[in-house]
Amino acid sequence: MRRLFFFLLLSLASLGAGAQTVVFGPKSRIVASPDSPAAAILQRYLPEATGFAFPIVNALPKKADIVLREVDGLGEDAFRIGLENGAVVLEGSGKSLSYAACDFLEQEVGMNYWGGGEYDLPRVKSVVLRPRTEVPAFRYRQCSHYLLREDPLLRSWMRLEEPSDLFVENLWVHTCDRLLPASRHGAAHPEYYAYYNGRRHPGSASQWCMSNPEVLEIVCGTLDSLFLAHPEQKMISISQNDGSDTYCRCETCQAIIDEEGSPSGPILRFVNAVARRFPDKEISTLAYLFSVKPPRKTVPLENVSIMLCDIDCRRQTSLPENPSGQEFMRHLEGWSAICDNIFLWDYGINFDNYLSPFPNLQTIKDNMVIFRDHGVKMHFSQINSSRGGDMAELRPYLVSKLMWNPSASLDSLERHFCEAYYGKAAPYILRYIHTLEGAAVATDVDLFIYDSPVSYKGNILRPALLRRYNALFDQAEAAVAHDSLRLSRVQRTRLPLQYSALEIARTDLGRDNAAVQKALDLFESRVRTFGVPTLNERANSPLAYCKLFRERYLSSPEGNLAFGCPVTFTIEPRPKYRELGKTALTDGLYGGAGYVESWVGWEGSDADFTIDLGAQKAIQAIGVDFLRQIGAWVLDPRAVEFLVSADGEQFSRFSYCEIPENRSGSIEFTPVWGYSQSTARYVRIKISGQKICPEWHYGVGNPCWFFVDEVWVR
Ligand SMILES: [Zn+2]
Repeated sequence: MRRLFFFLLLSLASLGAGAQTVVFGPKSRIVASPDSPAAAILQRYLPEATGFAFPIVNALPKKADIVLREVDGLGEDAFRIGLENGAVVLEGSGKSLSYAACDFLEQEVGMNYWGGGEYDLPRVKSVVLRPRTEVPAFRYRQCSHYLLREDPLLRSWMRLEEPSDLFVENLWVHTCDRLLPASRHGAAHPEYYAYYNGRRHPGSASQWCMSNPEVLEIVCGTLDSLFLAHPEQKMISISQNDGSDTYCRCETCQAIIDEEGSPSGPILRFVNAVARRFPDKEISTLAYLFSVKPPRKTVPLENVSIMLCDIDCRRQTSLPENPSGQEFMRHLEGWSAICDNIFLWDYGINFDNYLSPFPNLQTIKDNMVIFRDHGVKMHFSQINSSRGGDMAELRPYLVSKLMWNPSASLDSLERHFCEAYYGKAAPYILRYIHTLEGAAVATDVDLFIYDSPVSYKGNILRPALLRRYNALFDQAEAAVAHDSLRLSRVQRTRLPLQYSALEIARTDLGRDNAAVQKALDLFESRVRTFGVPTLNERANSPLAYCKLFRERYLSSPEGNLAFGCPVTFTIEPRPKYRELGKTALTDGLYGGAGYVESWVGWEGSDADFTIDLGAQKAIQAIGVDFLRQIGAWVLDPRAVEFLVSADGEQFSRFSYCEIPENRSGSIEFTPVWGYSQSTARYVRIKISGQKICPEWHYGVGNPCWFFVDEVWVR
């Protein structure tokens, strides 16, 4: 009796304004058309939750039924949940009706859906219904979850969309070469393509000459047939190919750039001219890298959408709180003043190291509030969720919730997720997240999307903090030691910490190799168990990383005759690398997959340097290692010549090696070895660089880099 009274008190207390209890029973049904996807979602889970069958019927609703109703006029993607004559009524249109079904399961039934068939579903016979209308802050919401592609329910659950839903033939970004292929027009009409550095650059990665009227006619013709073939879709993107500094600076384009104060000027004039021809369609274009600054005069037409990208900004704080973000804020304010149709593309993970702690969850939320308040209508939060990556499940959960409502409480969302997903380990995971986040703000770390965990070894990953993080994960693992599902989730979440410790260890000559070997073995077995597919955007495999780590970083530098020897330069590296270059090539420490540490770089030039071995030595092999990371304009050089000398004056050729061109997008090392027999004190290495990015590359016509680390003499 006392228990019943207590229960009544509780249910009364939990009934908010307008909330009502609905008690389901064996006669409860789902009233919907038989092919309704939303009804199928409810039918899949309600019987399991309630023990009642919930048949799908096309009939007049009765008390304790659930009614699904197609309703127009609620607004794009909006839905409503309410109560009519004792029946639950879900209203929406198309996919938003499925959103309503998922929201009902989540909020009223208390279900969590994690994707890939994993879910928590409480046993309930009744629900407390809170009538509401849900309207998204952004009419289009895009982010990734590694299970999304194979899981349509997850997509409805997270209320996410894909560019192919909207854009004709998925022409949504970097479309220039698809719309006017240089392979077709380049040879006969180089004048269609960008002019800079003294010539036209027709090529798959170059831009158009936007002031050329023939380009406008050809592109409008192409769009006309594309729209005719896809009458159901309204949007298409005319947007620059990826890469920076490749826009046209011919006389006419340059005059427009000068008048508009930005290379976005010629682009927007072109896009407006297209939009005028297709008034009932929507033409999207990029404001990205060289075009991020809005033009001074031209205003986008109403049917033009601006896809604005904050790629260069730092992520340790919100945009107005760091200098790179402050600069972007001026661009956002500029565009916001002339356009109420902005598609904001934000970047929220370390693309070079998915398995590196990236404490930007608060930043994501703060920036999203700013985007909403600046009238942004469409939003892509590019977080590249990848299995084993940093907070690869929490991050998309938060992003999808916040894209719907940026004012939602981050603390509540984090707590809800962690308590449900990690169970008893939640307090430790939450404390880890917040300790890391505090360290990022307190040390003002430069949190950049192309970075290495090695850059963080003096701030957010300093030894004292690593020790605390690991202690928290030890506690988290102990708390769920008897819950194998949650233990595996905790261990998967720990991978970035393990990877970072390995990365940092390889830069420390005083490391304990046996301990590092043990840590590497554990990391290898975990990435294998959890099926971690990649370390980064360039698809580098974690297992290949482990293999390379053993060969490269755990071998002793003692067998290298060049170890610790002084280096003098005839052709110096770029100024930024001159100080480092004095020691880095022979210090026994090998650069990793990012050029941000240990690597010595040359840009647009050759290299030439000499190593003094200190005495005459017998030499059988000389090697030098390069980094290839074409996304960062870091290409293999063309050739290496190895020379030797007894006196440092007269050099003779030891060996000459040509390097075949490699266009692979993976980040790889290119070791180059020359073999011969000689006795010498001085070793000279002459490297012929590519110097200029080739036409297939994003940087076409601009200087490219090569990076060298570690010279071997045997
Ligand atoms: Zn031009």
